[in-house]
Amino acid sequence: MFGRGRAPAPGAPRIILRRRKIDSAALRAMTRICPGACFRFGARDRIEVSPESCLRCGTCRTVGEATGEIEWSGGWSAVASA
Ligand code: SF4
Repeated sequence: MFGRGRAPAPGAPRIILRRRKIDSAALRAMTRICPGACFRFGARDRIEVSPESCLRCGTCRTVGEATGEIEWSGGWSAVASA
């Protein structure tokens, strides 16, 4: 589920981690606040992302703008814009 290099599902946002030496507290918090459970702790306690269950809420996009650790691209969902 959290593999690398996998193409996102059609319509799913593309979420790429821009790695720092240490994951920020904000990025680590994504494991608790992402409603799609797309973030988790992986090898060596580093954050991994798998957007297959993404709900396109945009929370990680906001966090990524603040820390620069998340590159987010893709359209907003019908749910988010309705
Ligand atoms: S957009 Fe929302 S659901 Fe999707 S990965 Fe980011 S925080 Fe999780």
